[in-house]
Amino acid sequence: MIHVVAIDGPAGSGKSTVARGVASALGLEVLDTGAMYRAVTLLAIERGLDLGDGEVIARAAEEAVLELGDPPGSVRLDGRDVSAEIRGPAVSAGVSEVSSHPAVRALLRARQREWAEQRGGGVIEGRDIGTVVFTDAPVKVFLTADEGERARRRHRDEEDAARPADLESVRDAVDRRDSLDNRTTPLAPAPDAVVIDTTGRDVDDVVKEVGPAGGARPVTADRRGDLGKRTFYRVAHALVLTPFKAIFWVRVRGREKVPRRGAFVVAPSHRSLMDIFFTAYITRRRIRFMAKQELFEEPFLAWLFTALGGFSVERGSADRAALRAGQAALEGGEPVAIFPEGTRRHGREITDLFDGGAYLATRLGVPIVPVGIGGSEQILASGKTLPRPHKVAIVVGDPIYPPDHGAGRVRRQEVSNVTEKVRVELQACFDAGVPYDPAAPPSGGELGQDQ
Ligand code: C5P
Repeated sequence: MIHVVAIDGPAGSGKSTVARGVASALGLEVLDTGAMYRAVTLLAIERGLDLGDGEVIARAAEEAVLELGDPPGSVRLDGRDVSAEIRGPAVSAGVSEVSSHPAVRALLRARQREWAEQRGGGVIEGRDIGTVVFTDAPVKVFLTADEGERARRRHRDEEDAARPADLESVRDAVDRRDSLDNRTTPLAPAPDAVVIDTTGRDVDDVVKEVGPAGGARPVTADRRGDLGKRTFYRVAHALVLTPFKAIFWVRVRGREKVPRRGAFVVAPSHRSLMDIFFTAYITRRRIRFMAKQELFEEPFLAWLFTALGGFSVERGSADRAALRAGQAALEGGEPVAIFPEGTRRHGREITDLFDGGAYLATRLGVPIVPVGIGGSEQILASGKTLPRPHKVAIVVGDPIYPPDHGAGRVRRQEVSNVTEKVRVELQACFDAGVPYDPAAPPSGGELGQDQ
């Protein structure tokens, strides 16, 4: 498990000071996620980008090199030290708008998970760390302080940074940012967070409450076993997919839409067992497949799927264990494939989707990538045992970014809306793959569902 100490709270609640204290007590590094949003805002301002266009900003940020914490507390953007600039008034005024875009949030959350993965953990401060980014963090703290004290602390920070301002205007700016931020990421503690009011309290005291006394302890993740599995996946990917490509004339469209880094949910259409292989064409990165329980009952297949990083789900049930495994893989920064149709279907219509993938994506703030696979039903339909050669067209759709649920619960309605978006986009991808497939029945999905 990645050992993350999640510290969330509003501006001026003492997050940075407490995070630094806890990190030094535990010998861990600190990640200031607010600094990441600020750095991306600076980048957008400097390049003259429209602060209302999240996709454009996210694309620019993806290309940029953002380094945090080396030396401690510093932030570098494309090699330039921007530690002071990101705290200036222009960035403070624009950061709430920039951080409101799901595409920006998805990218930065991916980077945050990557950061923790590389270190086996760390102390991470922000607004959504315990609620969205690391919902499994073993230590979650939510700091608060009364408004007057929060404004006074921010005022002191401004003076220390030689940006004198009067207390009232600092208070107004903090209030404004709080209310703008709350529209996208409503700030509230995770249900399992320890809430600490830091008003009038000594930092060392709070650090003691959060640190070793609070149960936090550094853990070095054992990733040796996983390294072996990743290598196995890479080798299997090459050995299986290369000949398949020739046999089935596999064509992939839209591969550039697949995120190159970070976690995402893959939502493929499902007409054949072979879809597992075809889905793997969209990226060389390891995809963790959620596969039906039955495949794990045959010992060789169980071994193979596990060795490839797959995990099982009981069909037709809201399988908590499978969702947890999917969540852990996503939090580790990996793509997870969940067939939203749940089982192999017949015909052209994409309908009656399960909510599991949309739920995980919404909960963790990661995109969903629909993948239509045309032609696989002609190769090996459900109920058939011998594959027949047939052309395959794989069409990757635009990633769908679930709206930010902020703190607390994910609402059922939000998840249904995301599932509906996936259905529409997946149908479009599937239709786009079908013209390639001369033997397909006419559209309209006149054939029903098989099981
Ligand atoms: O913590 P700081 O005040 O530097 O954060 C700057 C801004 O970054 C916040 O006002 C918020 O808009 C955004 N932010 C966020 N999610 C986080 C951390 C910061 O949206 N986890």
